[in-house]
Amino acid sequence: MLSAAAGQQGLLDVPTLVFAAVCIVGFLGMLLLTTWLQQREVRALAWWGSAYLIGAAAIAQWGAREPVVRLPPEIPEAFIFIACGMVWNGVRLFHGRKLWPLAVFGGAGVWMILCQFDGIEAGSPGRIIAGAVMIAVYTFFIAFELARERRKSAYSRLAATVVPSFYAGMFMVPLGMHAFLPEVFAAHWLTVLALEAIFYAVGTAFIVMLMVKDHHVHFYRKAATTDGLTGLLNRRAFIEAATAMHAAQGARGEPVTLLMFDLDHFKSVNDRFGHATGDSVLKVFAQTAMGSVRATDIVARLGGEEFVAMVPETMEGACHVAERLRAAYETAGLMVDDIAVGSTVSIGLATSYKPVADIDALLLRADEALYLAKREGRNRFRCAPEEPGSDEARARMAARKKPADGLVRRWVARRPKAADVPATG
Ligand code: GH3
Ligand code: MG
Ligand code: MG
Repeated sequence: MLSAAAGQQGLLDVPTLVFAAVCIVGFLGMLLLTTWLQQREVRALAWWGSAYLIGAAAIAQWGAREPVVRLPPEIPEAFIFIACGMVWNGVRLFHGRKLWPLAVFGGAGVWMILCQFDGIEAGSPGRIIAGAVMIAVYTFFIAFELARERRKSAYSRLAATVVPSFYAGMFMVPLGMHAFLPEVFAAHWLTVLALEAIFYAVGTAFIVMLMVKDHHVHFYRKAATTDGLTGLLNRRAFIEAATAMHAAQGARGEPVTLLMFDLDHFKSVNDRFGHATGDSVLKVFAQTAMGSVRATDIVARLGGEEFVAMVPETMEGACHVAERLRAAYETAGLMVDDIAVGSTVSIGLATSYKPVADIDALLLRADEALYLAKREGRNRFRCAPEEPGSDEARARMAARKKPADGLVRRWVARRPKAADVPATG
């Protein structure tokens, strides 16, 4: 057993290092499990915490001079790979992927078979290198799993992919040492492994805690910005997103158009078919609206049966959007939950070319247009009068677009006319 630990003298006292590794890994395991007890919904934390405790026990058994139970060294080594596999599976679970028992036990099985081969005897360089390569492979798998995840913030994605890749590379160090510095390797391999284990355990715990923090930020941000019933943005998030779109468009001298929607006779839908059907109607409208606009357009529920959208379009372009949505909802609202509801929507539109965003003013103008649509019979859209200065803004926009048009015209003019092309044959 690794009473071999006692045999190696080097830069650092090896038994102390192994003891430190056991303490650090065990402590981190308890930290992860405690975090899981507070946040039961993140089940991956239980996998990671258990993996660390198993890892700590395996290192203790592997490195102890006088272990309580004497076991062949491949048993604790196999448990170290089980721990690596559990960390990997935890990452899969965390990202909503399938648990993979093979990931947990595959490496341990491979290890038990490998240990039967000549040259892989306990304490031999072959054994150490094979073990380091196995851990590197696991680490690459973990890094791969993390790199596939697109929802994280750029900051933690960098940490989550670069750090494991770095560790995976680090576990290849024994390979290089054995090839180029065999004497140093023979004298210090245990120091190297123990140090690697410590860095690895601390780094991985750091990454998973970062992931859990990211998960929570994402969760609460989503809860604070979305409408629970329809999944659309809520009023607050709309104002924020619309202000950003308006400001960006305004800075380029381009317009935005706000569309305000109000379902027709919605109170009567509730009265006739019940509140639950009313809710289903609201969801159908939300789906129809999302299906009728571009991914870059902003759609939100202001409250009740009132919705709003902002598109980076002129009034003319937005009218197409409004008519497309109105017609789509006229069809989608016919039958809801197998009930002939016949729900329709009225829409008010208002455009702004202002360089400075004023969403409240736009909402007010769109609301007036909506009122007109209601008064004129519902199931239609009406446009608010243009704001002062729109003509000039439109002229400026057209002038800016001229050069490109001019270029096309010149290019077209230079093209040979059919009559100029010499006849062939
Ligand atoms: P109009 O065509 O003039 O818009 O008439 P309306 O009946 O749609 O307008 P009114 O504002 O009188 O009614 C809105 C109704 O929307 C009243 C309210 O009970 C209902 N409502 C508001 N929020 C919800 C909700 O979350 N779910 C359901 N089912 N109904 C809601
Ligand atoms: Mg209303
Ligand atoms: Mg209404």
